[in-house]
Amino acid sequence: MREERQFYINGKWTDPIDGKDFPVIDPSTEEPCATISLGGQADAEAAIAAAKSAFASWSLSTKQERLDLLRSILDVYTRNSDAMGEAISREMGAPIDMAKASQSGSGTEHIQDFINTLEAFEFEGEKRPGTPNDRMLREPIGVCSLITPWNWPMNQITLKVIPAIAAGCTMVLKPSEQSPLSGILFSQIMHEAGVPAGVYNMVNGDGLGVGTVLSGHPDVDMVSFTGSTRAGIAISKNAADTIKRVSLELGGKGANIVFADADEKAVKRGVLHCFNNSGQSCNAPTRMLVERSRYDEAVDQARETAEKMSVDLASKPGRHIGPVVNETQYNKIQGMIEAGIKEGARLVAGGIGRPEGLNRGFFVRPTVFADCNSGMTVMREEIFGPVLSMMPFDDEEEAIAIANDTPYGLTNYVQTQDGARANRVARRLRSGMVDINGMFRSSPSPFGGYKQSGNGREGGKWGLEEYLEIKAIGGWTPGQ
Ligand code: NAD
Repeated sequence: MREERQFYINGKWTDPIDGKDFPVIDPSTEEPCATISLGGQADAEAAIAAAKSAFASWSLSTKQERLDLLRSILDVYTRNSDAMGEAISREMGAPIDMAKASQSGSGTEHIQDFINTLEAFEFEGEKRPGTPNDRMLREPIGVCSLITPWNWPMNQITLKVIPAIAAGCTMVLKPSEQSPLSGILFSQIMHEAGVPAGVYNMVNGDGLGVGTVLSGHPDVDMVSFTGSTRAGIAISKNAADTIKRVSLELGGKGANIVFADADEKAVKRGVLHCFNNSGQSCNAPTRMLVERSRYDEAVDQARETAEKMSVDLASKPGRHIGPVVNETQYNKIQGMIEAGIKEGARLVAGGIGRPEGLNRGFFVRPTVFADCNSGMTVMREEIFGPVLSMMPFDDEEEAIAIANDTPYGLTNYVQTQDGARANRVARRLRSGMVDINGMFRSSPSPFGGYKQSGNGREGGKWGLEEYLEIKAIGGWTPGQ
């Protein structure tokens, strides 16, 4: 079995000071596949100290030096892309083809996007044309703590580490303890790419042992966190005493509004999207709202799509879905399905227990509930499993009201062939992102939420600006 106890601090692989062993469980087999170490306070502090000391020089690096480094990271990452897919598939259960293409591929895409963004980005300029004695400087905010979840590990890591480097910040990454293998490989990639010592550091650990130190330490200037709303609240409170910038990307409960004139593939597309990554995506369209005249047909289509969806081992090639990440998540999803049944939602596909033929592994049956209402647990809480909740609506106003009746506001979806209506509804949805008719936002695009889905934006120039302070100078001598 793999032993991966070391952390990456100040340009070297180092033994834990405060570590305790932690097994990485393969969710397809329930067997341990590696041992990592969960660090403690001393490990987190060593990493923060390394980042603090490297900030003095990296903050002064030129745009060209940062671009050269990012291109080197892209080159090494691309060479390791398949190995990255294998690590992700093993640790969190994404089917291998999908893990290599979408999971690992999201990293390549973000690194390339930030190279493009940095090339075009101006760190210095006049406040507005014709004010030569005013200068605006965009400067790196400082030492950043980057805390990431397990569901799209490389997507989240690259959305934080790469813009932090591009901005001239130094950092400590704490990947999720549930998906540490991809974070370890990423750190090897950073080392091979020639990241200067101390600019990027990585400590494995859990929320209490390492996360709390990273979010509260006085030498940390910013925390960027992706994960649950619960942890986002704890981190914000812990960061408040030292007035850190806190950027949060949290959960979601996306509505997918299907009007009667939606294209014929709209329902199937929505179900497949909801089940992608075994439903473990914060932007999953988990509440399908269907105009009443098309509702019965939509429920039938959703049932059929769910019944055809195959569930299998993550190691097998193909377009099936894999297990969910771990036993806790499996039990939580089972509890949610039970709550749906108990509260009177109509179960039309899936249900409690494992799919037929799978007696081991954290496999969940693709599940569809119909006739839900906005008060039900399955409509209110983020399930983070392959579970779709459907409900009819009578008119546009009602659809918008139901869609917005949630504490979350990450992504919503609209299906209609009436462009004017699609745009009108998109304006009224209280979420950071809206996708119409299955057309995803072009890349790079700001990713983030309204309300309890968070307060940050990741990706492109918006994601780079998160890591920058603005300095306004009067009396500047032009040309000097
Ligand atoms: P989680 O909040 O339990 O853990 C996320 C990370 O935070 C892990 O690294 C964990 O160790 C750490 N952590 C936990 N408690 C902490 C604390 N008190 N202080 C500091 N760090 C702490 O979430 P998860 O179960 O890993 O991920 C699933 C959640 O993440 C879902 O709610 C999902 O919607 C959300 N998510 C949001 C986005 C987004 O961009 N909006 C993306 C992916 C996942």
